[in-house]
Amino acid sequence: MDETLKNTALLEEALERLRSVLGPSDGFIPLHVPEFLGEERALVANCIDTGWVSSVGAYVDQFERDVAAACGTAYGVAVVNGTAALELGMKLAGVQAGDEVIMPALTFVATANAAHHLGAIPHFVDSALDTLGLDPVALGAHLRRISQARPDGLYNRETGRRISCVVPMHVFGHPADLDGLTGVASEFGLTIVEDAAESLGSRYKGRACGSFGRVAAVSFNGNKIVTTGGGGAIVTDDEALARRAKHLSTTAKIAHPWAFVHDEPGYNYRLPNLNAALGVAQMAQLSGRVEKKRRLARRYFDGFSGFDGGTLFAEPEGAESNYWLNTLVLAPDIGETARDTLLDGLNAAGYMARPVWTLMHRLSFHTHAPRAPLPVAEDLERRIINLPSSAMLADRA
Ligand SMILES: *Cc1c(COP(=O)(O)O)cnc(C)c1O
Repeated sequence: MDETLKNTALLEEALERLRSVLGPSDGFIPLHVPEFLGEERALVANCIDTGWVSSVGAYVDQFERDVAAACGTAYGVAVVNGTAALELGMKLAGVQAGDEVIMPALTFVATANAAHHLGAIPHFVDSALDTLGLDPVALGAHLRRISQARPDGLYNRETGRRISCVVPMHVFGHPADLDGLTGVASEFGLTIVEDAAESLGSRYKGRACGSFGRVAAVSFNGNKIVTTGGGGAIVTDDEALARRAKHLSTTAKIAHPWAFVHDEPGYNYRLPNLNAALGVAQMAQLSGRVEKKRRLARRYFDGFSGFDGGTLFAEPEGAESNYWLNTLVLAPDIGETARDTLLDGLNAAGYMARPVWTLMHRLSFHTHAPRAPLPVAEDLERRIINLPSSAMLADRA
């Protein structure tokens, strides 16, 4: 069959199956919208009524406790967004200007931006088909090929730069192979910083994502599973690190009744109490939200079972995912133009659909970044389509 005809048939079938899962689009079904079903309005109003809208307040403290509890860590530090959380997390994990930071090429640009803003250089490694996350086997093989242990750390023999940490990202909420990655990291003496921006509420072998690294970053952007409007958090079990995170994110001011003395160039990365109020109300709904999203995922599996064009990505073995975004992975032998035909057609029919991010090494400012071979990421790039995934869709139709 001619490729155009094949594509048309594929689109028709995908649309029919989407309708069976979501019902008619009634205009437009977005990819992911926030849901406010708890005390949001009351808590935000309380900030306004009391005047505690800005950088300190009881909701910030409560929110930090709630986020740490959800991530299974001892400490949480709320910051303005997930990117700032990643940047500070990497810095406090020891990333210095001129270092290389290992991360997947298949990630959102913020992971690489956070390293870049510290003066570090992202170093891209391939992903695994079964998790969509950083592949421990590819990572181990690559490090054996290019790295050299020196007294002050691991070095890239090809660039002469120190490699200071590895940043797994839990793609669309699915935990990366944390056993495998932890093993490789300890073999090479690398610190793990988890980019857990998408995986709040996800578990790996019973343990929450965000609790595996020395430190992890969570995002509360409007499109994430729960939101503070904009926001992020650093979570860790390391008390000293948490203390430093709080200090650095709040202008590094030394506590004093009236004097303005700062002991290093700090950041103004604090999360306003207003946003934390929204966050406290949202965190109370997290477990129910995960349950709804898992229900929606099951409906997608049913609706797309037996679909020749591809399969819905399922949580990896041992993982319990928050199914932040439902992902159709097109069949390996799919035609070159299939993905874009589907993206055009699904969006035109009112079902918002998105490809995966442009791989980091293709962005103009990273084309010279060090990298391992990326065959799996490059294959996934032409096969991934994300489908509408808002929690409320679980109860639609
Ligand atoms: C959302 C996201 C971030 C950044 O979070 P912001 O709060 O938007 O700054 C970082 N990494 C990944 C993988 C994300 O999806």
